[in-house]
Amino acid sequence: MPNWDEQTDIVVIGSGLAGLAAAIEARETGASVVVLEKMALTGGNTRISDGGLAAPGNFLQKRMGIADSPELFREDMMKAGMGLNHPELVTVVAEKAAAVIDWTREALGVQYLQRLDRFGGHSAARSLTTRSHSGVDIIKAQEKKLRGLGVKIRTRCLLTALITDNRGAVRGVEFQPGYRFPKKTDAPKKTLRAVRAVVLATGGFGRDVEFRRLQNPSLNESIGSTNHRGATSEGLAAALRIGAAPIHLSWIQTGPWACADEAGYGKGSRFASYSVYPTGILVDPATGRRIVNEWADRRIRSEAIIRTERACVGIVDAEGARQDSRSLEPCLKNGKVKGFEKLAELADAYGMPAGELIRTVEEYNRRITQGGTDEFGKPLHQDPRPLSEPPFYAIRLWPKVHYTSGGVGINSRAQVLNLTGRPVPNLFAAGEVCGGIHGASRLGSCALIECLVFGRIAGQEAAVSPHT
Ligand SMILES: Cc1cc2nc3c(=O)[nH]c(=O)nc-3n(C[C@H](O)[C@H](O)[C@H](O)COP(=O)(O)OP(=O)(O)OC[C@H]3O[C@@H](n4cnc5c(N)ncnc54)[C@H](O)[C@@H]3O)c2cc1C
Repeated sequence: MPNWDEQTDIVVIGSGLAGLAAAIEARETGASVVVLEKMALTGGNTRISDGGLAAPGNFLQKRMGIADSPELFREDMMKAGMGLNHPELVTVVAEKAAAVIDWTREALGVQYLQRLDRFGGHSAARSLTTRSHSGVDIIKAQEKKLRGLGVKIRTRCLLTALITDNRGAVRGVEFQPGYRFPKKTDAPKKTLRAVRAVVLATGGFGRDVEFRRLQNPSLNESIGSTNHRGATSEGLAAALRIGAAPIHLSWIQTGPWACADEAGYGKGSRFASYSVYPTGILVDPATGRRIVNEWADRRIRSEAIIRTERACVGIVDAEGARQDSRSLEPCLKNGKVKGFEKLAELADAYGMPAGELIRTVEEYNRRITQGGTDEFGKPLHQDPRPLSEPPFYAIRLWPKVHYTSGGVGINSRAQVLNLTGRPVPNLFAAGEVCGGIHGASRLGSCALIECLVFGRIAGQEAAVSPHT
């Protein structure tokens, strides 16, 4: 073992939702906790997220009388994940989701909008949204809580290695203080002993083009990403180097609502996610025809767009656009969304055959109002609305890398597993750095909830990890 520079009971790596949830839980047991974060800013992808959290049986569903259950939620996740999901992990998320929402309200003071969304692949309206429509609400609340508990988050500290003993048990970490992302330097490193355990919560690798290309060569630099700059693979790699099991690394999710005409997540993604897909249609500009069930899960929708080999056009009417009017205005201002009084004008603007587009919309409306089946399997009986109230709004959509479903294997106690499926002693993980929960495709609003559920478990378990 090295001559340790510092020591603490528990080291948490990463200051996103999962890491901070773990830090709070661990600290509340009385353990000393250090959080290391490589970026200058805390919060990772959580900070820029939309703050949507799916939870069956949540307080708002109860108030609104919406029937739902952990079993139904679990089925939805497993279906989207094509059964690759590790069922015991999905069960944990489904069963603890509503309680963890209560925890955010009661212990952290997080507030939610009085609305529930039903995203693609979910069988019920079960997704809550934080008051400012961003994950930053929860990050701020967690940071406040940690300040009260006397835990400091040390930014610009890059985890460079997990240090193990000759049994393979994790004893601490090596890190580089004063780190300036993304520079690689030989600046001196320090060692920090973790008397009890290390919690890895370093998020996904959506912005790590080299690493994601290794997993899926088609996701090269020409494909954009919605993620924060620091969504890279060093934390995951550190765990793989000491023998953690890699799970589902090549299942990398692209967001079908990403706007083709702006970088990163931008403003258009939210409009498409909250207005276009729930209330509108997606059309191939070359044919003027729909291409997919707009309520299908993300993988199915993204693949349908990619098959056309061109950006497709999402269309909503005025009533649909009011679904998320807060995102319409900035999108109209920056020109990513355009409004038209007539469908023929919209078709002209996007180079579509106008007659075909008008026929597509008429046929779609007719089936909704008169009853009928949909060629893409959209459940028309569940009340999608016809597109009839001008102006009609349109946005060009082309998928971007959004979420990495794969990562280190964990069990339902958040213990990191090795290549033979046994726990790596003293190493826990939570959040997007883990693999196995979502399988082939993560449903919208299922990541933040999972980070909270497993972040808390990781912190609780790490705190009682035996001194060895
Ligand atoms: C634009 C956008 C919108 C989204 N909206 C939603 C939504 O509404 N609902 C939902 O459920 N999901 C959403 N997601 C997904 C969700 O935000 C993420 O999956 C989740 O926030 C991941 O949390 P985390 O704690 O695992 O990682 P993060 O929040 O990314 O935090 C990980 C932290 O670890 C740090 N780190 C990484 N490597 C190291 C290292 N080597 N040393 C030290 N620190 C390191 C990172 O810098 C980062 O701060 C969205 C994602 C994006 C990009």
